[in-house]
Order: sequence, then C-alpha cells, then structure tokens
Amino acid sequence: MAPPEISIVVPVYNEEENLPLLAAEIHGAMRPLGRPYEVIYVDDGSTDGSPGVLQELAREDPSTRVIRQRRNSGQTAALDAGFRFARGGIVVTLDADLQNDPADIPRLLEAMDEGYDVVSGVRTNRRDTFVRKASSRIANRVRNRLTRDNVTDVGCTLRACRAEYLRGIPVFTGMHRFLPTLLAMAGARKTEIPVNHRPRLHGQPKYNISNRLWRALADLFAVRWMQKRWIDRRLSEEIDAWNTSLSGTPGPPSASSARPSSSAASSSSGSPPSGTSGASSPGPSGT
Ligand code: UDP
Ligand code: MG
Repeated sequence: MAPPEISIVVPVYNEEENLPLLAAEIHGAMRPLGRPYEVIYVDDGSTDGSPGVLQELAREDPSTRVIRQRRNSGQTAALDAGFRFARGGIVVTLDADLQNDPADIPRLLEAMDEGYDVVSGVRTNRRDTFVRKASSRIANRVRNRLTRDNVTDVGCTLRACRAEYLRGIPVFTGMHRFLPTLLAMAGARKTEIPVNHRPRLHGQPKYNISNRLWRALADLFAVRWMQKRWIDRRLSEEIDAWNTSLSGTPGPPSASSARPSSSAASSSSGSPPSGTSGASSPGPSGT
C-alpha cells in the first residue's frame, strides 16, 4: 500500500467516551480533501475501555492504526511514538479529548501548502478555567522571553508539521510544550493560525497547575541551554571536487531553492513566505 500523505497522531489516555466521536470528526474533516491519510492513536497505557474502543475503530477503518505504550509514559512520549510510526510526510497532532476541533485540520494543511514546515493552532476562544488560562498566558510570556521566540499558544496541541523536522529534534519528556521552538531550531519555517477550542465534556484532564508549572520551568532552562549549544547540521554539505568553486563565501541555500528535502542537511534557512512567522533560526554566532 502506498504510504499516506498525512498522518494524524492522537495521544490517548483514558478517553473512551471521546474516541468514537473524535474518529467520526477526523474522518468528516479529512475525507472531503481526497488526500491519502492515516490516523494513529497512541494508547498511553489507558486503564479504561479505550484499548477496546481503539481496536474497534481500527477494525472498522483500514486507515486507522493503534500504537500501544506498554505503560503510561506521558503525552510527550505518546506523541513521539506516533511520530516514529507515522508514514506521512505531514504529521498532524491533536488531543483525544475533543477540545481540539478536527474541522480545523484542512486549514492547517492549507498553510502547510503555502510552504510552511510547522503550523500551530492558537486557541482564540479557549474553553478552560480562568486559572488555567491565566497561568498559561504567564507561562507563554516567560517562555518566549527566555527562548527569544514568539509562540502565541504553546499549549495548543493542534498542529501540522513536516515529518522530517520531527525526526531531527531532541526528544525529552515535556518536549511537546516546546515543539515549535525546537522545530525552528532545526530550520523549520513556522506560522500560526487561529483554531477552535471546546470544553472537555468527558473524562478527566490529566494535568494541573502544580504538575505542569515546575516541570515546564525546568524544561524551559533546558531548552534555553540547548539553543545555546545547538549544532546546526544544515551547515554541512559535501563538496563536489570538480564543480565547486572555493572562491567566495559559501552562503546558505537561497530561499527559492530551499524547499526542504528528506535529507536533514538540505533544509532551509530562508524566511517564510509571509504571515505571522516566528522562525527563529539559530544564527551562526552560537549565542
Ligand atoms: N495524554 C496522554 N498521556 C498522559 C496524559 C495525557 O496520552 O499521560 C493525552 C490525553 O488523553 C489527551 C492529551 O494527552 O489526548 C492531552 O491531555 P489533557 O486533555 O488532559 O491535557 P490538557 O487539555 O489539560 O492540556
Ligand atoms: Mg485537554
């Protein structure tokens, strides 16, 4: 079977009531596009009826795959597992709890078609408690200040990204909160679009302020450290001894010829086509 163009990756931890509706909404959004896709549910060691529901969904639909984490390892590890199993050139992520709206996926893909490598959703009408909204506003501000980035809503998991970039970034627990920044370090051109957000109707949220805040803060310092120590692999290129002129400074590939290919060494450092970009491509200064 030819590999799909798009892989939709959904981390699942005890979401049995949400899954049937989520699956229907994903197919409802994707089928009209006529682009080959797969849906990968990563069961993160659920202890409710989610494994049975997922098995049923995969039996009903050949484009649906289920990956199982042998024990609960957290949302980041689940996402990473999905990335490793994904076969599509574009990976879309969203939560399983129906807070993200699959109807937004076609617009994420449109932005990808404009030439971006990562498109992040921004929850304009966020449907969470006041405390959650306020704390993430502060967290976003602190995070952007320290990482010198401008990610508006890093807590929004609804995103689309070129798979090759996902394979070139460091993996650690908590990574998903820094994904756009890490991808930009790897040379991805990023943008954001407003997306819908809905209240959680079934199941329990898995995070609270205290288990999120301190870890996220520790991760923040780690990411800042990584930015300073980042090795830019895009600088390496093989010399053709007969056809390369050594006079003049070798520059980065021009924006027009810089469509990233599957090789990590040839990704772009050009600026994005337009829009609310924030590609903070790490400069050669090694700041
Ligand atoms: N999740 C997971 N493993 C975990 C915790 C959460 O796979 O250990 C999944 C969860 O099922 C949901 C997504 O990660 O699909 C986000 O979780 P949640 O909705 O609780 O996070 P919040 O909306 O509070 O950020
Ligand atoms: Mg949620």
